[in-house]
Amino acid sequence: MCKFCVQGTKRNIFGPKSIERIKNELISGRKNGACGLVITGGEPTVNKNIFDIIKLAKKLGYEDIQIQTNGRMFKYSDFCSDIKKAGATEISPALHGSNPEIHDYLTSVPGSFKETAEGIINAKKYGFRIITNSVVTKPNMQNLPALASLLCALGVSQFQFAFVHIQGRAAENAKWLIAKKTAAAPFIMKAIDIGVKKGIPVFTEAIPYCILKGYETHIAERIIPDTQIFDAESEIRDFTEFRRGYGKIKGPKCKKCVYYKQCEGPWKEYPELFGWEEFIPRKSY
Ligand code: SF4
Repeated sequence: MCKFCVQGTKRNIFGPKSIERIKNELISGRKNGACGLVITGGEPTVNKNIFDIIKLAKKLGYEDIQIQTNGRMFKYSDFCSDIKKAGATEISPALHGSNPEIHDYLTSVPGSFKETAEGIINAKKYGFRIITNSVVTKPNMQNLPALASLLCALGVSQFQFAFVHIQGRAAENAKWLIAKKTAAAPFIMKAIDIGVKKGIPVFTEAIPYCILKGYETHIAERIIPDTQIFDAESEIRDFTEFRRGYGKIKGPKCKKCVYYKQCEGPWKEYPELFGWEEFIPRKSY
């Protein structure tokens, strides 16, 4: 399991969902107007019903079907072909370093860097749109510019740097895993520059406007669509409302910031660890 996994031990507690339950969730999503679907986990490619789930989603009218994955199964051509035929349109593989030393360390799986990179190359051949996600932590933050160069070379359509959310396994490893946002920001900015130069869209997540001066247009929260989440144990009807009202928080000085309305602030666990010193209200746009 990845050393920053927010899902923690949920898989052991809840186990896999039944196909009937997933069917009801897919129907509910369509009734609420969804035409895009993200299938996530755990690792969805190890679910024995994955092809049936995608086929069902397609039949119900979902147009964009994204698989959030470690990308390793996509190194197999048969798998790529079958999942494409089932109806998946996009994959979001996770690459957390530009080399096996960093990536395999963070995933705790020797050989996973090679498999994920091969998966990305193979998935491209099968015509999938590829949007990668990389979790920003202390062990990989200095490597992010090199990672950005690798992602450009792999020909991904878009990449995102999500600041680690201190829950599950990440909370257990918080002492050595969590970077300060201001320490990670210069490397993230360099990585963004590399993507922009190549004409590739780059986004960041959970890094507020006061930390990303000059890079505000790369803040993903500005463009995250309305999202309904069916989690292992519960349903979140409106993920934006959930993030703003419960998951994230703003600090004592934030009301003075020109970005106060747009900004969601950091995930609430972050200031519990590092306080509010880094978050200096912006006086101008
Ligand atoms: S509202 Fe607070 S957290 Fe958000 S950008 Fe302004 S100072 Fe930073």
